[in-house]
Amino acid sequence: MATGKSANFGAKNQAADTLLILRCANFAAVKHKDQRRKNADKTPYINHPIGVANILSEEGGITDPDVICAALLHDTVEDTNTTFEELKTHFGSRITNIVAECTDDKSLPSDERKQLQIVNASGSSHEAKLVKLADKLYNLRDLTNEPPVGWSEEKRANYYVWAQKVIEGLKGTNDALERKLDVIFSEKGLKP
Ligand code: ZN
Repeated sequence: MATGKSANFGAKNQAADTLLILRCANFAAVKHKDQRRKNADKTPYINHPIGVANILSEEGGITDPDVICAALLHDTVEDTNTTFEELKTHFGSRITNIVAECTDDKSLPSDERKQLQIVNASGSSHEAKLVKLADKLYNLRDLTNEPPVGWSEEKRANYYVWAQKVIEGLKGTNDALERKLDVIFSEKGLKP
């Protein structure tokens, strides 16, 4: 049974976590405000990072606020004018480092970036692996339910094959998320 004092401390910590998560959601919303997803409905881009954070919390059972924050921010540097310095100033180094691990180097050609995701997956931190798993789960669901406009059947099929190779290096991180990814791959006829 918690004493009044420690319960109060816990409540204060929870309030601080909630505020931090909201600050990250707001920061990401401002940064992604002019972006849309590539589906026919042109869904606001912010739906994606919020959805990734929600997968981690609701389906992955993740309660570490820094991981939830990193999920909210995971595409800000890759896809907007945000810098790592900016993230560090606002949200500290732990969150920034997780985001950095989830950020592709856009100066590289697309094929090279995709290959690097496969190569770098297994050496990622536990926290970054979580964000990467949830990101892939979100994108694979989108590919089935709300595919990007103009993507051929072949391009979609190749995405599943590539994503499975990335996921291979992320295994042993979160059973619930990995099981759901396995179901998606087996539905596409891809063996584990
Ligand atoms: Zn993403």
